[in-house]
Amino acid sequence: MGRKRGSKKVKKMRLENSKFAINELQKILVEPHNHSEQLLNSTSLHIRKQSMKSKISLDKSTKLLICKGCFRALLPYKDTRVRVRDGMLITTCLKCGTIHRNGGGPKFHKIKRKEQLEK
Ligand SMILES: [Zn+2]
Repeated sequence: MGRKRGSKKVKKMRLENSKFAINELQKILVEPHNHSEQLLNSTSLHIRKQSMKSKISLDKSTKLLICKGCFRALLPYKDTRVRVRDGMLITTCLKCGTIHRNGGGPKFHKIKRKEQLEK
């Protein structure tokens, strides 16, 4: 009795399943207007949890849609404040106050290099 653990085949299958799940969940997030706010929030939470569990890194575009602080969906027309400063896209989550900085800016090349080092 009991589940077999540590089998390579099972591990691989689990990874495939996670990838599939994340992929499907991403489809929901890229079309926020087709879904309810509640679904979007739980979707982003699931994506985040699933990617952490399976160590799958998310697409850059998906990362922009999920708050780092409270794991809610960052809806462009709600709960967020979007500003452009120094060529950077600054998105503030109004629920928890987390600030997301994206792209451009005077130190863009430095940020990019740092990101590569962290990977
Ligand atoms: Zn937040």
